[in-house]
Amino acid sequence: MKKTMLALLGMLLLLSAIPLYPISAASRSIVDATATYTYDRMTRDIQTLAQTYPDLIEYRSIGKTKYGRDIWAVGLGKGTATIFVNGSHHAREWLTTTLNMTMIEQYAAAYTANRPYEGYNARAILDKTTIWFVPMVNPDGVTLQQLGLSAFPASVHSALIRMNGGSTNFKRWKANPQGIDPNRQYDSYWATLEANIAYPFWRNHKGTAPVQTPENKAIVRFTYEIDPEIAVSYHSAGRIIYWSFHTLPANLPRDKRLANLFSQTTGYRLMPQRSDSSGGGYTDWFITTFNRPAFTPEIGIKSGETNLPVSAFPEEWRRNKKIGLWLAQEGYTLWSKRNPNPTRYITVQVDGQPPAQATKAFVQKGVNYVAYKPLLEQYGFTAFWDQSTRTVTATSSASGTVSFTLNSLYAQVNGAAVTLSGKPVMVDGMIYVPARMISQATGAALRVDRQTGQLQFTSPEPVAPAVPSIESPQPPEVTAPPVNPNATEGSAPSTVENSTYGQ
Ligand SMILES: [Zn+2]
Repeated sequence: MKKTMLALLGMLLLLSAIPLYPISAASRSIVDATATYTYDRMTRDIQTLAQTYPDLIEYRSIGKTKYGRDIWAVGLGKGTATIFVNGSHHAREWLTTTLNMTMIEQYAAAYTANRPYEGYNARAILDKTTIWFVPMVNPDGVTLQQLGLSAFPASVHSALIRMNGGSTNFKRWKANPQGIDPNRQYDSYWATLEANIAYPFWRNHKGTAPVQTPENKAIVRFTYEIDPEIAVSYHSAGRIIYWSFHTLPANLPRDKRLANLFSQTTGYRLMPQRSDSSGGGYTDWFITTFNRPAFTPEIGIKSGETNLPVSAFPEEWRRNKKIGLWLAQEGYTLWSKRNPNPTRYITVQVDGQPPAQATKAFVQKGVNYVAYKPLLEQYGFTAFWDQSTRTVTATSSASGTVSFTLNSLYAQVNGAAVTLSGKPVMVDGMIYVPARMISQATGAALRVDRQTGQLQFTSPEPVAPAVPSIESPQPPEVTAPPVNPNATEGSAPSTVENSTYGQ
């Protein structure tokens, strides 16, 4: 008996020694959350993620730091609505970069496997909303904190040591290597910022003008570009959430509701409503400039003037893993309110060519719709319309059968039930279906050009070699005039051009 107990105890000890991370849901993990997450590691991982999920993830540099590091932005999703998540404004808070990167990988894997993620439908959410991440806002600072002086030219070592109060240990460093705190740089109550250190220092120096650093310039420019509905700026530590800053009274109920949900999900404590004069933070600026919700969560328990240990990650991840998808869903709701009828017409290509028959397509409420008939016919289907059930059944000897019903989210592809991202609709006597359904029925890969919205189908066995490009798609050189939405059926494809509706 005693022996059994001992064996059991031994097994328990063994089990508890197995790291909980990388989590088992991912068959292979790209992001190693147990590592000291450096700029070089992040750069490699972003490239690998974009190669692994080429239809879902894009990335680009939104600026370069003084020491030539790229400030990477990573887009995850296919929607027109956007939210923005960032990390590592402060050098020593790089565990927030690990958190951003883990979200990207986990959500992309769930989307691709078409499985729910913590109760959220990753595919439905990311088809409608793009989550933009800047996982490391301050890569020079993170590098200084992690690698110390050796990562910087000898000519600046004495200046760095001076800004570090004479110490060669940079573990407490928060600023960028110019000694400016990137989260005291934004133009919101900057002039009256309290507790400022008047000279370049490892913390709390706001600079000599707002938005003077390359890091802050990049983030401000990028925020205007993606126009997010909600912003989240991850920091550490304290397990608290800042959620208000001179928030307009009319917006308080909206933001308070989200803040309460954020707090319930993470177990982080909400900070009191703020209308003090100390601003300059990213979410201070976002709230007062865009009048939209923004949150600064501080992950982890404070453990002195340094980075959180990587051992703190699994618990903070557990508390935050739903946040990106949840806020993407909330962001879409907010975006829909601002865009009540956001139909815009887009073009279609099959294997790089216009379809054999003129094919209209449009985006409505974040869903890409395309006229089903020309495409299914091009892929060898014969379609039958049942007026009594308002159902289309199309069959092809090569691909099988697809059937769907007007105004119903439920379709059948080869006998399997499929939930569509939008209901098939009839416009001017023509039936439109979510473009993804065409892809599911025909086996053609679907890619959506982010700039033009163009739907690009690639046949299962393409004539031309179709190697997925990891480069961001380029906008067309010539922008066509906005389409007349009343254009008659059967007009030439060239009249159904992309509109200039803003993204
Ligand atoms: Zn911070």
